Amino acid sequence: MADLDVTRADAVLIGGGIASATLAAMLTELEPSWNIVVLERLHTLGAESSDGWNNAGTGHSALCELNYTPQDVDGSVSPAKAISINEQFQVSRQFWAHLVENDRIGDPAEFIHTVPHMSFVHGVENADYLRRRHEALAANPLFDRMDFTTEHAQLAEWAPLVAEGRPVTETIAATRSPTAPTSTSAP
Ligand SMILES: Cc1cc2nc3c(=O)[nH]c(=O)nc-3n(C[C@H](O)[C@H](O)[C@H](O)COP(=O)(O)OP(=O)(O)OC[C@H]3O[C@@H](n4cnc5c(N)ncnc54)[C@H](O)[C@@H]3O)c2cc1C
Repeated sequence: MADLDVTRADAVLIGGGIASATLAAMLTELEPSWNIVVLERLHTLGAESSDGWNNAGTGHSALCELNYTPQDVDGSVSPAKAISINEQFQVSRQFWAHLVENDRIGDPAEFIHTVPHMSFVHGVENADYLRRRHEALAANPLFDRMDFTTEHAQLAEWAPLVAEGRPVTETIAATRSPTAPTSTSAP
């Protein structure tokens, strides 16, 4: 690093996290001849927020994050933000697929893993909210594999540890999306 001459760089990116990595990858696609310098103050890259064991690591596609579907004052649940977030994630997957197909990065199985996404709530009001959230989203192809239940037996199948010891008189609700939408080919 001592003899690094950043004055000869076409782009200098400060910080070696996912933001710089993504921008550098995009710039390289657009300007393959560019000399891109990434400056990182730590001993290694991706050790701050972008470390999967710190903050990053979960691709948000609004399948389970309730904050993307706030309830309006009239009780309606708008799908707009959730759809926008999911679409952004699909664009990310398309970009990663492009990088894989062009041998820029390795086996996607080593960096992306699809897992079922669940939301769980309890209480009458929350269960009603989740039902309306499901209704608002399920018509969209990005969310059409999302199932909804208020049944304890179904919850026990989906999430045994969450259901264990829970009184069957309790009002509960859950949604579960098994995997990513079928319309995309990335893992
Ligand atoms: C609590 C929390 C939970 C989150 N959960 C998720 C999640 O579930 N899913 C998800 O996708 N994202 C999540 N995020 C967001 C995600 O972690 C960040 O959006 C992403 O990691 C930011 O990447 P970055 O490259 O901007 O920052 P960082 O990964 O932090 O990289 C910045 C780098 O810049 C370096 N740096 C700083 N100053 C300088 C300097 N002056 N000179 C040189 N280098 C410098 C740092 O050392 C660091 O390596 C979460 C964030 C938080 C805080």
